Amino acid sequence: MASRKFFVGGNWKCNGTGEDVKKIVTVLNQAEVPSEDVVAGQGAAAAGLRRRSAELLGAQGRRLHRRDQVPWVILGHSERRALLGESSDFVADKVAYALTQGLKVIACIGETLEQREAGTTMDVVAAQTKAIAEKISDWTNIVLAYEPVWAIGTGKVATPAQAQEVHDGLRKWLHSNVSPAVAELTRIIYGGSVNGANCKELAAQPDVDGFLVGGASLKPEFVDIIKSAT
Ligand code: PEP
Repeated sequence: MASRKFFVGGNWKCNGTGEDVKKIVTVLNQAEVPSEDVVAGQGAAAAGLRRRSAELLGAQGRRLHRRDQVPWVILGHSERRALLGESSDFVADKVAYALTQGLKVIACIGETLEQREAGTTMDVVAAQTKAIAEKISDWTNIVLAYEPVWAIGTGKVATPAQAQEVHDGLRKWLHSNVSPAVAELTRIIYGGSVNGANCKELAAQPDVDGFLVGGASLKPEFVDIIKSAT
């Protein structure tokens, strides 16, 4: 992962009380976090986060216009794909639009349990990535988040080998279908039940360039996740 800076996003969504958010913001700002990219929060909930070592993370799929306050936005999260019927094309349109607005994008892709069991994982994530690739030409401000739907919020984390296999496949897909440079430089992060106990082994995989973290991002163990590559 020599040329890719480890990236960790905390997806707080609407979880946690104001008090929880204050606590984790304090913990994060006190932690000696390394110089990797770290973004956490959700819109106004994270307003107290200092920008020294952590930046605000945009609301999931919203507030595309507030670029000065929300430099990162998560698009294509499986909850929005499933609950709001966002298609891969629609997600790709939003990704392209967000980039034109100066936002950086964490673009989520991932298969359902049925798709995994049917052996179509790579086809599914390649198709989701292709939809995005057809609508953008500059990948500089994109982080690709592989989030198997069956692992999100379930406590069932992908094994390091499962994550590595998909990340490697995605990098090869980018190499063949976008460019070798984009394949080499684009961070592919893993999301789905990452916690302080399982992060190190996942982070050790050569194509796992960071994490997108839900539940554990509101807990002090988020610091261990941020430091997992060091
Ligand atoms: C998420 O909601 O994007 C997520 C990865 O959640 P969790 O870490 O709780 O599985």
